[in-house]
Amino acid sequence: MDHFCYHGDTLFCEDVSLSHIAQQVGTPFYCYSEATLLHHLAVFGEAFAGYPHLVCYSVKANSNLAVLDALVRHGAGLDVVSGGELFRGQKVGCAANKMVFSGVGKREDEIRAALQAGILMFNVESVAELHRINRVAGEMGLKAPVALRVNPDVDAKTHPHISTGLRRNKFGIPFGKALQVYRQAQRMPHLQVIGLDCHIGSQVTTINPFVEALKRVMELLKQLRGEGIPIRYLDLGGGLGIPYGQEESKIPPHPSLYAGALLQELQGSDLTLILEPGRVIVGNAGIFVVRVEYIKEGEEKNFIVTDGGMNDMMRPALYDAYHTILPVQRHFSDDEMVADVVGPICESSDFFARERLLPRFEEGDLLAVRSTGAYGFTMSSNYNSRPRVAEVMVRGGAFQVIRRRETLEQLVENEALFAPLAGEGV
Ligand SMILES: *Cc1c(COP(=O)(O)O)cnc(C)c1O
Repeated sequence: MDHFCYHGDTLFCEDVSLSHIAQQVGTPFYCYSEATLLHHLAVFGEAFAGYPHLVCYSVKANSNLAVLDALVRHGAGLDVVSGGELFRGQKVGCAANKMVFSGVGKREDEIRAALQAGILMFNVESVAELHRINRVAGEMGLKAPVALRVNPDVDAKTHPHISTGLRRNKFGIPFGKALQVYRQAQRMPHLQVIGLDCHIGSQVTTINPFVEALKRVMELLKQLRGEGIPIRYLDLGGGLGIPYGQEESKIPPHPSLYAGALLQELQGSDLTLILEPGRVIVGNAGIFVVRVEYIKEGEEKNFIVTDGGMNDMMRPALYDAYHTILPVQRHFSDDEMVADVVGPICESSDFFARERLLPRFEEGDLLAVRSTGAYGFTMSSNYNSRPRVAEVMVRGGAFQVIRRRETLEQLVENEALFAPLAGEGV
């Protein structure tokens, strides 16, 4: 469920017209519905209500401070994957003991910052990382709480770029080695082994892979407890998919079905469950609004050239992702056209839709690219020297800019000319 609906012929976010926002802030912009965001968080949390759990929203999906603030104020913890995301979590006042730190490449300064903050646990992905965390914690006179991220070798059946739970992926500790690595961790003096973690991928649209992974992980857990390794936290990662609009019957499971299947496997166990949903919370809480610059009728194809590009929203370029495209203002005529919706970037992968049946758009029309709240703005770049776009949040009948559009000056403010060296003539 979301709050992007037509009132008459105009697309609204909650009670605010998107044309109105476009007039005020210009285009392109991302627009998030706070009510949708919070609804998704509530539904997800309620699905696990019968079992001790902590929802650690995955910051990388959408890391805007206003988004984090809304979620944290409504009880979410955070899953961070960098020192930058930890910093954002601290900025919005997330309790340190509700933050977990994931990722394969944690730097020493990031580990130090997380220990200083007092996070709930590190999800550790290699033996080398265990050694590093142990050393840094020792230097700080602390014991670092850790979980091992194990790779259950389960096929999440999602796009190869967002599948993480197979043996060939870089993520996690191979399942067959996990017990041995746990024993190693248990012997390290500055570590406190408290958890078991697994995350099999993103945009997973069936329940089976999650259940399969959980079954494997529960076997391991039994073995660990048998050896006196006291696992308290079971982190099942994120990955639950969302509908993007093209699926006919294959709609991803509702969080209540997902939770039900997982909880069934957990009956009788005394763990605290940690979940790291990202996309399912923010994906359908955001849209990306662009303006049509040109209609280009080619010999073979029609192109709708917009002022937004792959640098602003790169999921189609990266994953060949499908996004529903809607007119912000519905036309009176029913005329349609088949066209590629593309941006101004000098790359052929710069597209939002291919050969899509769309209303007959005209220059100056506004388009809304749906389901772009997750991995939209956070993946954006300045490629082609394009200032990053504005982000807006709506609450009921009010909207606020939660990230200003970058200026041209900001594009270059960190750059410097190479200064003449001493003794060099001018
Ligand atoms: C990306 C990621 C998530 C969130 O994935 P979604 O598909 O957005 O739910 C959770 N945990 C880890 C470790 C991740 O890398």
